[in-house]
Amino acid sequence: MTISKFSPAPELAESRMVACGVPGHLQFQQGLVEQFGGTWKRNTCPACRWQALYNTPKDREEHLAAVVEVEAEYLNRDLIATGITPRFRQCSFDNYVTSDDKAKQRALSICRKYAEGFDAHLQAGRALMLMGEIGTGKTHLACAILQHVVRQNGRTGLIVTAESITQAVTDSFRNNAGPSKSDLLAELAAVDLLVIDEVGMHTAKPGKDFTPGLLHEAIDRRYQLIKPTILISNQKPESLQDFIGPRAADRLRENGGLLAPFTWKSARSGGLA
Ligand SMILES: [Zn+2]
Repeated sequence: MTISKFSPAPELAESRMVACGVPGHLQFQQGLVEQFGGTWKRNTCPACRWQALYNTPKDREEHLAAVVEVEAEYLNRDLIATGITPRFRQCSFDNYVTSDDKAKQRALSICRKYAEGFDAHLQAGRALMLMGEIGTGKTHLACAILQHVVRQNGRTGLIVTAESITQAVTDSFRNNAGPSKSDLLAELAAVDLLVIDEVGMHTAKPGKDFTPGLLHEAIDRRYQLIKPTILISNQKPESLQDFIGPRAADRLRENGGLLAPFTWKSARSGGLA
C-alpha cells in the first residue's frame, strides 16, 4: 500500500506478535484497530481468516462471519481514509439542526440531494460549493455527504483544508524523501470525491501565497478527469476567484455546478463549524 500524505490509515494500538495456536499458522501482529465510530477492535489471525474465506464451505457460519468481518474492515478503512476528524465523525444529515429556518433547511436539502444523487454527479464531474459565514455547519454537512458517499455508494472520498495542501507542498520542497508536489496533486485527484475546506480562511501574504495557484491546479486536475469537488469557503461566491483563480472558479460552476448558500449569521457556541 502506498504511503498517503492526506488519507490516514486506521491506527493500531498495543500491538505485539502473537500466534493463534493453529499448527502451520505464522505469528502475526495483533493489536487494537481504530474504528471510525471511536471504538477499538482486536484483529485476528490472517491465516485463520484466509481459511474461513477460501477454504470453508460457503454456507458455514465461520465463512459468513469472515465475509461480514472483511466488509466491515474495508468500510472502516475507507471511512478513516476520508480524513474526517473524530470531531466530525458523528455528523449526519439527521443531526444537522435547522429548526424552522428556511435558509438552513435549503442548505441541508441541497447537500442531502447532492449525496443521494452522487452517482450522477460523479459521472458529470459536478461540483458543489458551500459558501457562507463561519460556524454555520458547512463542514458538518460536507462530512455527512462524504460519509454517505463512502457508506451508500462504496466510493472513496477525502476532506482536506486549503492550508493543509499548501503545507504538504511546502514540506515536499523541504524534504526530498517525502512525496513530490506531483504525487500530492495525484493523490488529491485519485479519490471519487474531494472536499477542500477553509478556502480563503487564511490571509494571503502578497506575492508569497501560492495557495490559489495550488488550489487551481488541484481543481483543474480533477476537472480534466471529470471528477467532482466540493469547495467550502467563508468568502462570497463573487470573490472566490481571488482564492482559487478565475479559471478554477469557472470550472466549479460549469456543467450545473451547485451552490449551497449559508447566509445566516453564525450561532456558534462551541458547536461544530
Ligand atoms: Zn490462525
